[in-house]
Formats: sequence, C-alpha cells, structure tokens
Amino acid sequence: MSLPTEIDVAIIGAGAAGLGAARALEHSGLSVIVLEARDRIGGRAHTIMAAPSVTFDVGCGWLHSADKNSFVGIAEQLNFEIDRTRPPWREQSFDAGFPFLERMDFIQALDDFYERAEDAATEAASTGRDSAASTCLEPGNRWNPMIDAISTYINGCELDAVSILDMDAYEDSEINWRVRRGYGALIAAYGAPCPLALHCEVTLIDHSGQRVRIETSQGTLTASQVIVTVPTNLIAAEAIRFHPALPAKVDAARGLPLGLADKVMLALDDESNDALPKDGSLRAATMRTATGAFHLRPFGQPCIEGFYGGRFARALEDAGDGALAAQAIDEIVSLLGNDYRRKLKPLAGSRWAHDPFARGSYSHALPGHAAMRAVLAAPVDGRLFFAGEATSPNFFSTAHGARDSGERAAGEVLASSKV
Ligand SMILES: Cc1cc2nc3c(=O)[nH]c(=O)nc-3n(C[C@H](O)[C@H](O)[C@H](O)COP(=O)(O)OP(=O)(O)OC[C@H]3O[C@@H](n4cnc5c(N)ncnc54)[C@H](O)[C@@H]3O)c2cc1C
Repeated sequence: MSLPTEIDVAIIGAGAAGLGAARALEHSGLSVIVLEARDRIGGRAHTIMAAPSVTFDVGCGWLHSADKNSFVGIAEQLNFEIDRTRPPWREQSFDAGFPFLERMDFIQALDDFYERAEDAATEAASTGRDSAASTCLEPGNRWNPMIDAISTYINGCELDAVSILDMDAYEDSEINWRVRRGYGALIAAYGAPCPLALHCEVTLIDHSGQRVRIETSQGTLTASQVIVTVPTNLIAAEAIRFHPALPAKVDAARGLPLGLADKVMLALDDESNDALPKDGSLRAATMRTATGAFHLRPFGQPCIEGFYGGRFARALEDAGDGALAAQAIDEIVSLLGNDYRRKLKPLAGSRWAHDPFARGSYSHALPGHAAMRAVLAAPVDGRLFFAGEATSPNFFSTAHGARDSGERAAGEVLASSKV
C-alpha cells in the first residue's frame, strides 16, 4: 500500500502487537495503516525454511502459557497445526554429561530458587523495595551458574539485571506448545489482511499540532491517533523521536531493556538423524553460565537448534558471523563425540542485538523498574498509545503478550475516539 497523506490511526511496527492492534480495528470504521521499517511483517516473529525440510523460527517458537495464549485459537482458525509435545527442557538425552540424579538435584535447586524469589517478591511488594533476582541465589550453591544460565534463556540476561517483582509478575502456566509450520508463519498469516506500508521507517512523531505528524523514510503523513509498538531499545535510544519530547516514556523504556537470546540451526546428516531422539535435549555445561541449550530434531526434523542467552550470546554476536555455529558445534561435539564435527552443518542463525529494528530479543525490568511496564503502556493526551510485549503486565517478553497489548491499545483508541 502506498503512503496516504492522512489517516485516522497510524500503527508503528508490524510485529505481533501492531498486527494485533490493526486486526482489532479492522471493522471500526476508522482508516488504519501499519507503518513497518522492514520488508516483511512479524518483527521478532520470523519463520524461515533453513533447508527444504527444516522450518526454523528465528524469533519466537513456543506458545508459552498455551492454555491462556490468544494465538492458540488463532492457529486453530487459520488451520495451523499445534504440536502439544512437552518441551524437553528438563531432560538430557543419553544422560550425556548430566546424569539423572544430578539433574534431579539441579531441578530441586532451581525450584527452591523460585520459591525464595516468590517470597522475596511478596516482601518487596509490601515494603516497596525491589531488588535483583540474583539476591535469591543461595550463597555457595553449586548450581548457581546454571540457574543463571536458565535466566539468560528466559530473561535474555543474568539474574543481577532482573527485577524480582517483574519476574514474579510473569504468568507462567507451564504449558508450552509449538506451531508445526512456525510461530512466525502463523503471525504473518494473522497479519496478512492488515493495511500496510513496508520499508517505511518512522523517525519523528510530532504531536505538537492539531493532528499528529509522522515523518517516515517514505514521506510524511498525519494521523488523528498513533499506536507505537516498537521495541523498548529503540524508544530508549530515541531512534524514534517525539516532539514535544516524552521523557517519561524514554525513562520507562530504559528501565525495560531488551535482553538477548540467539538461536542457531544446524543440519544433521541422515545417519545421525536416526541416532538422535526426536525432540531430545542437551545442555553442554552444567557448572557455568556461558553455555548453550540444544533441542535435538525438533518435530523430528534433521537438525539441532541451539539457544544462547545473556552476556555470552552478546559476546558470540560480537565475535562475528559463524561464531555462534562454531560454539554450538564445539559444545555438541564435547557431549556426543568427535564424529559430530563432520555430521553437523550450520544452516542459519540469529543476531538480534545487531538487528537495527529490534536491538535485542525481549524485555526484562531492571531491579526497581517493574512499574515501568504500566508507565510505558499509558496513553498520552488520548492521541498517542503504546503497545508491544514490554507493555504487557503478565505476558511481557512473549508474542501473545505483544498481540494482546495491541488489542488493548486498539480498545483505548476506540474509547478515546468516542469521547
Ligand atoms: C530468539 C527469540 C526467541 C523468542 N522466543 C519466544 C517464544 O518462544 N515464545 C514467545 O512467545 N516469544 C518469544 N520471543 C519473543 C517474541 O518474539 C516477542 O516478544 C514478540 O514477537 C514481540 O512483538 P512486538 O510486536 O512487541 O515487537 P516486534 O516484533 O519487535 O515488532 C515491532 C516492529 O516495529 C518495527 N520497527 C522498529 N522500528 C521502527 C521504525 N522506526 N519505524 C517503523 N517500524 C519500526 C520492527 O521492524 C518490528 O517489525 C522470542 C524472541 C526472540 C528474539
């Protein structure tokens, strides 16, 4: 769609949040356009075919809290098959380097950590004094580095940067499903009917006049109302500027930075495909934080998906193309044997911190900043509205949380246009 000069509602960003907002407004009678900087929709939801028989979700892959996840019903409506196989995260295939009794000991330590964190959150809520989740680690516990590694996967950062109150606010029903054709593909299909301008990077939102003026890489348009859904790191860095400035939003975004999680997809040769279990799991190291987690043959596909988070993922990105795959292969070889060096071939990987329109993977609240989600979500003057995963009170960091936040912002637009 070419850029109109005037519109009722402009939505900035065609990720799950922006698409959720646009779909919620489709029968409203308002004219709507989604302005997207990339050449595709979906944002941090992106499925690629890494090989003819390997579907790879480079961003979101799991329907977290699936019993409460609005994308489950959408998948059913759109005929996207849902895979309800339990995630293998607590298993170790072949007990490689991590025997059963050790795993049970670790899981106990992890559960104890979460229990202490829950108590600490209750206390923080009553005293008003939030702190870093790392304070809930038991001093000297041998599993602390691995508990921190789990945080790098879940939060995209180590526990010293995670607010206890925010961690406690997340609603995890512990039911996690997948979309066989890819979560990114589902979100792209969900967004397909939305009116859209691609390659359209917004640089300025001027709300000083009667109408909101939006400067983009394709020209200028005016809107009655605007929904902003871009990731927090872009608001924090003022990659999109507001005039007059909105320092409260910039501060809120800085309290909710995106952590980093990166994925790498490795092809398996035919012989090892038969030797490895479908939906198996491996953790390379159990006594350090800088280590990957591996999903063997997801959906039975001939591949291994690796996952890295936090400072280690950042260092691997900074080391340049190929570093993530090389690290993953080294770690798998250390568990399964030298033969795997020739059995594995890098197919694709992510570099979310270097992605100019994401600059990270998903948001976490810094200690003391859990309340910033509500600050970021609050409308300004009945004309500027904010959505995106970081604004979700209980499902932040997820795709369904992002979608639901877009629907919430659309509801606010409708309520304010009736006044
Ligand atoms: C590796 C990884 C694994 C993940 N795993 C899961 C998972 O298993 N389950 C889950 O639920 N979630 C997961 N997530 C998180 C999930 O993908 C995100 O929370 C969700 O997709 C965010 O949606 P959003 O609409 O808030 O933001 P985005 O998807 O980032 O959408 C924002 C859009 O704004 C656009 N944009 C940015 N700047 C501009 C500009 N100046 N002008 C115009 N457009 C702009 C961007 O290009 C983007 O399309 C994962 C993410 C990553 C990176």
